[in-house]
Amino acid sequence: MKSFEIYIILKNHFGEIGSWWPKDSPFEVVIGAILTQQSTWTNVEKAIKNLKEENILTPRDISSIPLDKLKHLIKPSGFFNQKAERLKGISEYILKNYKGDINLLLSKNKAELREELLKFKGVGKETADSIILYAAEKNEFVVDAYTKRLYSRLGNVEENIEYDDLKKYIITEIPEELKLYQEFHGLIVLLGKNLCKKKNPKCISCPLASKCNFN
Ligand code: SF4
Repeated sequence: MKSFEIYIILKNHFGEIGSWWPKDSPFEVVIGAILTQQSTWTNVEKAIKNLKEENILTPRDISSIPLDKLKHLIKPSGFFNQKAERLKGISEYILKNYKGDINLLLSKNKAELREELLKFKGVGKETADSIILYAAEKNEFVVDAYTKRLYSRLGNVEENIEYDDLKKYIITEIPEELKLYQEFHGLIVLLGKNLCKKKNPKCISCPLASKCNFN
């Protein structure tokens, strides 16, 4: 089954979700993209709520807050020691190189931005692409564990496909449009969280079941 068909089936099933990543500012997307590593979105939301309650929402705020306090606030997202240091590192870099204005970094062209993001400690391809797609709002498709699981279960790709290969495979089959990139990724996340789970997928309720190789 082609990717565009998967997108249409998921959209008909879950409805239009548009740019689903919750954000009050581009920097909040950066925070979320770091906190969501090896975590669930529910736990990320608890950590972001803690930061919001303390008004810690900018690179300057993150740089100036004591490390232990930052760790405490983001604790619900797990791996908080590592993530606090990553957030500090990015925030200090933005302060030093962009006077604290993340928009100056995000306004770079897509290739330059991706290269720069990938230099940050703890920012891999999925995190960088999430920041480009949802914070910079540029056409960069994001693939994640849900995407890999779905495409391998459907029989489209091997289970151990590399990040870049899966991304290339998908983007050759869909129009290059920001809203579609954001929405398709969001729909795959919804499917993965609710139906195409790692253990015991709920195939009986899945809109892709008739075309899936899994069972
Ligand atoms: S039918 Fe089952 S395995 Fe296939 S995509 Fe749907 S939930 Fe996943």
